[in-house]
Amino acid sequence: MLRKITDSIYYINATESPLSADVGIVEGKEYCWIYDVGCSEEACQALAGIKKDKAVVLSHFHPDHIGNLSRVSCSKLYCGDNTYKYIHTGEIVDRNIVMEDGVSIHLFKIPSSHAKGSIGMEVNGEYAFWGDAAYCTTKSGKRVYNAQLLLEQIRLLEGLSAKYILLSHEEEFVTEKDKLLEMLYSRYVKRDAKSPFIDVE
Ligand SMILES: [Zn+2]
Repeated sequence: MLRKITDSIYYINATESPLSADVGIVEGKEYCWIYDVGCSEEACQALAGIKKDKAVVLSHFHPDHIGNLSRVSCSKLYCGDNTYKYIHTGEIVDRNIVMEDGVSIHLFKIPSSHAKGSIGMEVNGEYAFWGDAAYCTTKSGKRVYNAQLLLEQIRLLEGLSAKYILLSHEEEFVTEKDKLLEMLYSRYVKRDAKSPFIDVE
């Protein structure tokens, strides 16, 4: 289902069965900016219905975020270096990229425990699509954060002008940045100087 955030920012909400990530849709002057393409039929159909040229940005390589890629036509494609290893196409976001298209689009790398090569997309300095970058990973059956990457992500968030972060798969897709920072700080303070990993449980 298409949901509205602002006059130019929309999203198709994530589903659990099939597991398909939220799809961000930002209406620019020349392009419709799509953040993740999901892997459900519903997301695919909704994307097919967009007549404007599409610029697709992929948050990371997991199938629930990129599954529909081969079925979506687009004139521009951006992804992280690790995602590129899976899809072999698109421009790698290896620095901050800022583009003006009626809306201001800012692409950047996010240090993430969840997935290497995670990419964020900030719109008008107000909203930042974050994919799954804030989540932990699983290591030997345990849910953990990498302490160094978590600290780097906290620093990145602190310096970001966006007040709202859009977290994939969350019931509340639009989250206040301060609320997310609080959650990440609460995890970071649990670190143990002897280990590079922080247990979530
Ligand atoms: Zn993921």
